Amino acid sequence: MNHLQQSQQTLKAAKYIEYGLKTSIIEHYTQLPVKYLRTLCKDVTGKSPTSGQLITVPRLFKNKRAAIACILFVSIYLKANHSSSRRVDLELLLSAFDCFTNQLVQLDEMNEDKLSFNINDAWVLMNAYMNHIIEFVPCCCGSVSVSSQVFDVETKCPFCAFGGHFRYGLEDLDVLLG
Ligand SMILES: [Zn+2]
Repeated sequence: MNHLQQSQQTLKAAKYIEYGLKTSIIEHYTQLPVKYLRTLCKDVTGKSPTSGQLITVPRLFKNKRAAIACILFVSIYLKANHSSSRRVDLELLLSAFDCFTNQLVQLDEMNEDKLSFNINDAWVLMNAYMNHIIEFVPCCCGSVSVSSQVFDVETKCPFCAFGGHFRYGLEDLDVLLG
């Protein structure tokens, strides 16, 4: 990597750090050394990067509201995705995350308790979806439920649990619902 490339990757990495992406993910995409990224994290946030594991796929779908959030996020990402690659596009992930956050704040049902869905969770989710570890199955209510051949996830439709009504508040679900 020459100096210009390193500078360009550093700017990208600084943006990813601001979003809270884990160093291991940023390293994978920018090819910048971990030690360098840890220092950059201190420059950007004033703190060392936090360690800790990524969320597991079953935990992403731990309750009905979390499942609805996941379904909405995948739908928003796919709407903007015009590539056939299975690799998660980080730039797309960030813009989908902004859009997702804007939609969620408008929904009372999703804001009763603060929903903990962060950018790293979004990355785990999209990886699982792009690699067919999870799939969405049409439900008779007109929405979708989650299915997985790999993990034990709750397969009951989360929208039916809310009487099916509030998918209409989620404007971007049309990609999955057809
Ligand atoms: Zn349903």
